[in-house]
Amino acid sequence: MHVTFVGVVATLVDSVVIAEFAGYWLHRLLHSDKFPALSRGHLIHHFLIYGPRQSMRATEYLDATDNRTSVGNVGVEWLAPSAIILLFCWGAMALLGVPPLYQVLALCTLLGWPILMFSYLHDRMHIRNFWMTRVPLLRSWFLRARRLHDIHHRSVNSKGFMNTNFGIGFYFFDRFFQTMAKSHRRFNWEGYQAAIGRYGLEEMELLSLRGCSKARFHNKAGIKTASRNT
Ligand SMILES: [Zn+2]
Ligand SMILES: [Zn+2]
Ligand SMILES: [Zn+2]
Repeated sequence: MHVTFVGVVATLVDSVVIAEFAGYWLHRLLHSDKFPALSRGHLIHHFLIYGPRQSMRATEYLDATDNRTSVGNVGVEWLAPSAIILLFCWGAMALLGVPPLYQVLALCTLLGWPILMFSYLHDRMHIRNFWMTRVPLLRSWFLRARRLHDIHHRSVNSKGFMNTNFGIGFYFFDRFFQTMAKSHRRFNWEGYQAAIGRYGLEEMELLSLRGCSKARFHNKAGIKTASRNT
């Protein structure tokens, strides 16, 4: 088999572009109402964990997958469609007679890139003091992408759908499909209520608030016992 440098670079570049394209559309799909069960999972991240009354960043990442189907902290709303997309790409390459080595390279990139961008990088956008903020060139790229993701979290339309900035690390498909927003807007509380109602997140909203105050109560109790022992 004939493997060339140009062939390897072309495979890597194509795979990254396809992965970004798929990530963009999957994220956009999760913000539509086509598959309500999948949307609900993603909106827990948006409305209950990093919601409008909550801070966008804490010292550690807060998972949105407790008591839900997930691998690590990645919910089934990302896993199931991703598996289908991967299988589809594999089938397409086999049909087109792509050499096996390029197939393996492409599949590794199609799996690795989204993990790096949509899982690793995304989660680091919700923690303070991420190492990239201390590295000169990476810093400006990361902070720009993070700001656009903050805007994504706060851009709900009046029907309760988030409609901007579906990329995570890169936003060229947002530019291309005209879903890019570069500045913050006033938060749409009417839209927020519509979304909370549509996915039955009211009870969970209460539970998450109760969870917060309970944690605070336990902390206080912990401090009391600690000080009593000294
Ligand atoms: Zn989102
Ligand atoms: Zn987020
Ligand atoms: Zn909290």
